Amino acid sequence: MSLQRWSAALLLALLVLLPSCAGSAPAPRPGPEAPAEVRFYALDCGRAEIPDMAAFGDEGGPRELVAACYVIRHPGGTLLWDTGISDANAGAKGGVLHARTGIRFRVDTPLREQLRALQLEPTDVQYVAFSHLHVDHAGNANLFPASTWILSRRELEWATATPAPPTVEPELISAYRTAKLRLLDGEADVFGDGTVRIVPSPGHTPGHQSLIVRLRRAGTIVISGDLCHTHGNCANRRVPPFNTDPEESIRSMERILALVNATQARFVVQHEPDALAAFPRFPAFLD
Ligand SMILES: [Zn+2]
Repeated sequence: MSLQRWSAALLLALLVLLPSCAGSAPAPRPGPEAPAEVRFYALDCGRAEIPDMAAFGDEGGPRELVAACYVIRHPGGTLLWDTGISDANAGAKGGVLHARTGIRFRVDTPLREQLRALQLEPTDVQYVAFSHLHVDHAGNANLFPASTWILSRRELEWATATPAPPTVEPELISAYRTAKLRLLDGEADVFGDGTVRIVPSPGHTPGHQSLIVRLRRAGTIVISGDLCHTHGNCANRRVPPFNTDPEESIRSMERILALVNATQARFVVQHEPDALAAFPRFPAFLD
């Protein structure tokens, strides 16, 4: 072969090889394999010490509520329902007083660390859905800038108004500006197969919504956000004085509780510690 031909062959080999060298970006993290069936995990995403439950329309006196959040692993992706109290509160002995609400927040295990028990990094969570944008439900929203945020259009408009409502911390949800948004004006069937649905239940806030998960063995679960903060408030149709619309709150309670009856679902008051304790202890799950 002549020198010219050698050079041409060498150049051709380089051209073939170069793209694979140039594209040497790190391989995507394998992450955990999607389960064949829907799995439901309940997480303790912080505690809230309420100085006086009268502020929530309940009988007076102090009480500790839980800020639960939930991971749903579906063959089509992973969804996180609510993000709890901000991980920034973790590690503070005795918790951190939230000045604007007078509530003391405590986080024992940061959400990010809990997700690792499932081999999940925030980028493995395709969908983050919010019951509403109060500080104890959206505290870790900004951990998920690469996820699709599913929330009510009305809720986002309300929470990002100026001045911000006192129960919303705008800097904790600022990633909404760049995250992918799926803004709902009504119901949503997240994976298109009826297993994970989101339905409006406004009144606590303008765009409050509830989650319905249908599991093969455990049946239907309705996660009701702040539709009621306590069992007593639900049973007695009591509404916190700071709800944005008291009448709409009662109508939402009636509608969701009727749906629970009709589907013989397990009804979950998200802030009740015994409702969280009744689920398999994370990272155990229902399916
Ligand atoms: Zn709330």
